[in-house]
Amino acid sequence: MADLKLRGINKNFGAVQVIHDIDLDIGNGEFVVFVGPSGCGKSTLLRTISGLEEPSSGQVLIGGEDVTDYDPSERGVAMVFQSYALYPHMSVEQNLGFGLRMGGMPRDQVAARVMEAARILELTELLERKPRQLSGGQRQRVAIGRAIVRQPKAFLFDEPLSNLDAELRVQMRIEIAKLHQQLGATMVYVTHDQVEAMTLADRIVVLRAGRIEQQGSPIELYDNPDNLFVAGFIGSPR
Ligand code: ADP
Ligand code: MG
Repeated sequence: MADLKLRGINKNFGAVQVIHDIDLDIGNGEFVVFVGPSGCGKSTLLRTISGLEEPSSGQVLIGGEDVTDYDPSERGVAMVFQSYALYPHMSVEQNLGFGLRMGGMPRDQVAARVMEAARILELTELLERKPRQLSGGQRQRVAIGRAIVRQPKAFLFDEPLSNLDAELRVQMRIEIAKLHQQLGATMVYVTHDQVEAMTLADRIVVLRAGRIEQQGSPIELYDNPDNLFVAGFIGSPR
């Protein structure tokens, strides 16, 4: 696992600046949650870490190494997508191993990584099944498993639970918290769900129009929101 540093990140899409001079240090093993209204730049900032977006200026450091010019595959971080991104025609085992096989990893090594991820996520009995033969929660676990097999330096989640029903969201939230403890993993998690943010985060970063409005532990933000905007997301009602 590794720490992550964002240094003076700006991002423009054409003439529109959507990220404004963001500095952020995320500790090794820390669970950081980005919250904020739709369009405030949560996904763009996360994609800047993964390399799916190139910042207009600024640097991204992973484990102290400047990776700003690296491709996503060279950064050693894993994005967790929503479960609908699974390959429907492949078994759970094939879904878990696909990325590693494409990367040229030897078969037995892929098999070992897949078994380990399946054990952690309690998918061992389901390896032969196709995604359509799984429950929503099981599918989401496979999606997370595809990140785990890569043994990444950090996990990046972009609203991974937003297409699940309420009950399943709660269940998956607990599983992600467990995973964080078990792996001691650095995790950056985007959500607009207040409860997810409050329960998962070591630190919540509230974004507003591409800037950090306030950051702190869930309790700090809940008890002492700087303003009504922050209070609207996580503060106590006043
Ligand atoms: P969030 O994830 O917080 O909802 P995004 O990071 O997706 O917000 O988007 C931030 C802003 O950047 C929005 O105004 C969005 O329309 C714009 N944006 C995102 N991606 C692109 C793109 N590829 N091209 C142009 N504008 C984009
Ligand atoms: Mg988004």
